[in-house]
Amino acid sequence: MKIVVLVKEVPDTYGDRKLNLETGLADRAASEPVLDEIGGRALEVALSYADKNPGTEVVVVSAGPSSAQATIRKALAMGAARAVQIVDDELAGADLGLTAQALAAAIRKEGFDLVICGNQSTDGSGGVLPAMIAELLDVPQATSLNSVQITDAQVSGERAIDGGTATVSASLPAVISITERLPDARFPNFKGIMAAKKKPYETKSLADLGVDAWDGAAARSIMIAVSEKPPRAAGVKIVDEGDAGVKLAEFLLENRLA
Ligand SMILES: Cc1cc2nc3c(=O)[nH]c(=O)nc-3n(C[C@H](O)[C@H](O)[C@H](O)COP(=O)(O)OP(=O)(O)OC[C@H]3O[C@@H](n4cnc5c(N)ncnc54)[C@H](O)[C@@H]3O)c2cc1C
Repeated sequence: MKIVVLVKEVPDTYGDRKLNLETGLADRAASEPVLDEIGGRALEVALSYADKNPGTEVVVVSAGPSSAQATIRKALAMGAARAVQIVDDELAGADLGLTAQALAAAIRKEGFDLVICGNQSTDGSGGVLPAMIAELLDVPQATSLNSVQITDAQVSGERAIDGGTATVSASLPAVISITERLPDARFPNFKGIMAAKKKPYETKSLADLGVDAWDGAAARSIMIAVSEKPPRAAGVKIVDEGDAGVKLAEFLLENRLA
């Protein structure tokens, strides 16, 4: 069984997240880079399966700047066997379409039985990349799973739906995405951190993958303008002179909040 896990480096979720107002790109220097938490959980699903099924290979694949290598190596320290990183200047500010094409090309080259992704990243938060990759790889997908069962022939799990839970399954090879309901990522131990330094770490360019960033046929979204969010206006203060209830009701009605 070969499991490919898609992980990426993001600005610290709890840090100060900024966009560069000139380029419109995430200002990576503004906060500590971290391995996206949902990607860590996706990796934990793969490693838990590998713990119980000897001979399973877990490979992490990521698209991002070369500066992200130290972060991606954390996935090797957790227990992934190898890492493949797509590094290319053309990926700076890449939209969902180009990111999906690049990742699908790397996964196809790698070969896979199962691809595990997070359901939504904490920076771009598009929430659609797993579906786009499944489409490009022409395999089934089961997304936003709250639980995962993997057998030699299929993957299944539960997903929250209105008023209940749906059990979904897909024959392998397939793509799945998981939610924050899956267990936390394990902490790398000292042995894992040391071993990560020697584990294979490949970098690939778009040319290596046969992906043309400006292929005329593919639609690309380009950021044309970005502006700072206006500062939050001060709130309305209600002083109770025995009529606070009335004033509050008037405020709610005026602002269509009631
Ligand atoms: C603030 C902001 C706004 C953006 N707005 C747009 C937009 O409007 N339109 C547009 O096309 N693009 C947009 N992008 C770019 C888009 O977010 C990137 O293409 C991004 O790399 C992939 O999308 P996502 O993280 O939103 O994907 P999601 O679908 O939220 O990611 C789900 C999962 O896919 C995997 N994954 C996602 N990115 C990578 C990666 N680089 N390497 C490995 N695995 C990955 C992870 O497992 C992740 O958990 C925006 C980016 C930012 C930071």
